[in-house]
Amino acid sequence: MTRFFKIINGRLYYVSRVKRKIKKPKRRNPNYLKYKKDAETLVKERLEYFNQFYDYKWGRVTIRNQKTRWGSCSKKGNLNFNYKIVLITPKQADYIIVHELCHLKEFNHGQEFWNLVAKAVPDYKEVRHSLRTNSLKLG
Ligand SMILES: [Zn+2]
Repeated sequence: MTRFFKIINGRLYYVSRVKRKIKKPKRRNPNYLKYKKDAETLVKERLEYFNQFYDYKWGRVTIRNQKTRWGSCSKKGNLNFNYKIVLITPKQADYIIVHELCHLKEFNHGQEFWNLVAKAVPDYKEVRHSLRTNSLKLG
């Protein structure tokens, strides 16, 4: 172990560099751990179901513990969803899944994008509105 020392008030203190590097384990949100698996199952099932309208291809599906987003789609086609997707109504969850699915084709929020969303969720405007009252926003 590499050590160095410090002198504080005339006393010699050894300080372990190794020890200094050790970070406190990150506190995991217990709800995240609890719902992550269910969220993953739900998202994967619904992605397959809705993909009959689209026939797109995606990469990895990751469930995250995010404070401000319901979901996101990377340029590489990986999809991320908030674990809280299992804590909202099925209709809201479906909308979020369809929303991210449609970003695989339209990487923006233009009219074409919303037309795609409407194919699977015709009343997406209402669902979207209902999600706004929630503290999270759909990214
Ligand atoms: Zn979006």
